[in-house]
Amino acid sequence: MANARTSVILRPDIDALPAYVPGERGTRGRQVYKLSSNEVPFPILPAVAAALSDVGPDLNRYPDMHATQLVEALAAHHGTKPERITVGNGSVAVLAHVLTAVCEPGDEVVMAWRSFEAYPIAVQVAGARAVQVPVDDAGRHDLDAMAAAITDRTRAVLLCSPNNPTGPALTQSEVRRFLGTVPPGVLVLLDEAYLEFVRQDDPTDGVALVDEHKNLVVLRTFSKAYGLAGLRVGYAVARRRLTTGFRAAATPFGVNSMALAGAVAALNCQDQVRDRVEQVVAERTRVTAALAEQGWQIPDPQGNFVWLDLGRRATAFADAARARGVLVRAFAGEGVRVSMGEREGNDLFLDIAADWLRDRA
Ligand code: PMP
Repeated sequence: MANARTSVILRPDIDALPAYVPGERGTRGRQVYKLSSNEVPFPILPAVAAALSDVGPDLNRYPDMHATQLVEALAAHHGTKPERITVGNGSVAVLAHVLTAVCEPGDEVVMAWRSFEAYPIAVQVAGARAVQVPVDDAGRHDLDAMAAAITDRTRAVLLCSPNNPTGPALTQSEVRRFLGTVPPGVLVLLDEAYLEFVRQDDPTDGVALVDEHKNLVVLRTFSKAYGLAGLRVGYAVARRRLTTGFRAAATPFGVNSMALAGAVAALNCQDQVRDRVEQVVAERTRVTAALAEQGWQIPDPQGNFVWLDLGRRATAFADAARARGVLVRAFAGEGVRVSMGEREGNDLFLDIAADWLRDRA
């Protein structure tokens, strides 16, 4: 009896879902460079560590259900109103709340592809269907094709800028023009997880666009530039009416006390965060130039990662890198995404990339 299968029937679309595949983790005791999850390589800031230990003794209490302090700090940081902010257990959780709030079975959500792994899964969990519009040869969103993919069933469009994993970012004028073509009843979600790393003209400023567009939701995270991926804090900025819906769809007490305190402390460290982001951008510039010199052609990297379009050889490259102590993220049949890490790890990746080309010359 112990091994008998359960008679409980799972929702067929959930049962059929492929699992989210996270970036590989290293094994303890062996020096590996983990360039597989778009984290930053720095330890948490001292002020964040202090805030976390201050919370410790109070963990017998529930966190502030409304995340008042963090929401107010974010509103002040962005020059917006607290009633426009929804926080969640990582921006993936906020994404889920947004989709739950707008999607019904049979609805469609348009997205670029290849883009962030978690999008089609989140859409399917929300009961909707992902409509994937291929990125162009330069790894950029094809906004005209995405606008053309909108139907009567479309409830949302997901824009990812910079696009994970290919790298290019949209400009503010592109997003503004796109918003002008989307029916007002279709929600547009602009995921700016990597915005702080963008160094191009006319970068997006989604929060500013929320004033002009009642159907826009901007997604941001503490996991990348703030270096707090393990703490799990993300947030959305949108008009009050939408925010009320997102908050209603959220799990109560979804952001824990440590995460709340750590995020507030990190927000107060803007100078240090900017410094760290500059170091990552400098490494990206250096790595990109070295790859070009080796003969690689890569899409414009505006996040904290680069994309090697390796096609069928993606997995073989990742295996070769792992054998030499570098973990990268392979997307089978498509390419490899490599996060910017410590200088030594980046150098080792560059050696691996050079050897790869030489071995195939
Ligand atoms: N959006 C994009 C585009 C991402 O790449 C990621 C993380 N890889 C996230 C959102 C999720 O971040 P979080 O840790 O806030 O859930």
